[in-house]
Amino acid sequence: MPFTELGLAPELSRAVAEQGYETPTPIQARAIPAVIAGRDVLAGAQTGTGKTAAFVLPILQALSQSSGGHTPRALVLTPTRELAAQVAESARKYGRHLRTRICVVFGGVSINPQIDALEAGCDLLVATPGRLLDLAGQRAVDLRGVRHFVLDEADRMLDMGFIHAIRQVLKLLPDRRQNLMFSATYSDDIRDLATRMLRDPVTVEVAPRNATADRVDQQVYRVPKEHKRHLLAHLIRDGGWHQVLVFTRTKHGANRLAEQLAGAGIATAAIHGNKSQNARVRALTEFKTGKTTALVATEVAARGLDIKELPFVVNYELPNVPEDYVHRIGRTARAGGAGRAISLVAPDEAGLLKDIERLLRRSLSVTANPEFVVVPEQRAAHGSGAPAARAPQPKPQSPRHPARPSGRSFGAQRDRRRWGSSRG
Ligand code: AMP
Repeated sequence: MPFTELGLAPELSRAVAEQGYETPTPIQARAIPAVIAGRDVLAGAQTGTGKTAAFVLPILQALSQSSGGHTPRALVLTPTRELAAQVAESARKYGRHLRTRICVVFGGVSINPQIDALEAGCDLLVATPGRLLDLAGQRAVDLRGVRHFVLDEADRMLDMGFIHAIRQVLKLLPDRRQNLMFSATYSDDIRDLATRMLRDPVTVEVAPRNATADRVDQQVYRVPKEHKRHLLAHLIRDGGWHQVLVFTRTKHGANRLAEQLAGAGIATAAIHGNKSQNARVRALTEFKTGKTTALVATEVAARGLDIKELPFVVNYELPNVPEDYVHRIGRTARAGGAGRAISLVAPDEAGLLKDIERLLRRSLSVTANPEFVVVPEQRAAHGSGAPAARAPQPKPQSPRHPARPSGRSFGAQRDRRRWGSSRG
């Protein structure tokens, strides 16, 4: 079905064509007509399905068909700054042939330019909850004119503890409005919120509940914790990977791994909540433009990152919440692309892996470890009783294949002994 059959205005169809979109994704094909018809929508769709256009396009259409005053007529609430910025960027692209005024507000940056932008007039406002309430408290934004309200990545909102903030925002909105709720996963809390927020919603689900994108090739390597970074460096170098998003559980872990990979000759940056907004944007830009090979990110920082056709996602540590696995691997095999998601699983993570497999309703295939070199920690050389440890001695490097530091070799043989011949 072409975009033109969805009932979109010519200005929007044109903008979409300019983006190179030929046909609507399933979520777009189903949600756009429902939103145009004025219905509330509950959509189960993960990132990468084209969900942003699924709500932005019909809302832009509605806004262009009615005249507005000074205050926002549509509000999109997102859990993270990055997602807010990306939704606004998409809205600007899709709305380029319309006169819709789009504003974005989030924390971590100066509030004054945001106040100025709102004062200048705004039709579609994209916001994170904290900054929005801050602005409302300062009377810098008036939400009484909102006719269309979108809660994007609602599950993540709840995970991040935003339920109270969401309730506060809802109180600032008029009763008569259209509500759209997007969530990659459904918990009882999400269903609860949907029941309270939505009126007779059209339910749109594009993938089976909690299913991961079929196109993602998911692999598991069983590897002791202390060998993970060596295996990862090996996979990146040996596979000639040029763009890989790596997930760690903590900010500290992200920094450390980024340093270790950089030390192994792999251009790496870290992105997490302790970094300034500018540092995050720079890291993301360098990653998108191929200046860095690996981007190490924590869960929250990576949410909503739109990196087109990301070929590799690595779970350096498995997430504590199985649903987060679905979010993480949603970074690869995005609309139309294919991708691989690799999980490095240490013995103490076996339980987390089981939880994920239970959620997916299938087991993940375990790949035998390749031969890889373990470089002893540099500081171990100063310790006592540690095996003779040498600092990495990089050989002269060829541009395509950085030299491997000397060290012990681990491979399939050793791995099978440790884990047994089949999965534990
Ligand atoms: P989203 O799920 O909204 O984050 O979108 C994921 C990616 O798919 C973005 O890079 C969009 O630009 C792209 N995209 C959205 N809709 C389409 C479409 N109909 N055809 C091709 N790409 C699309």
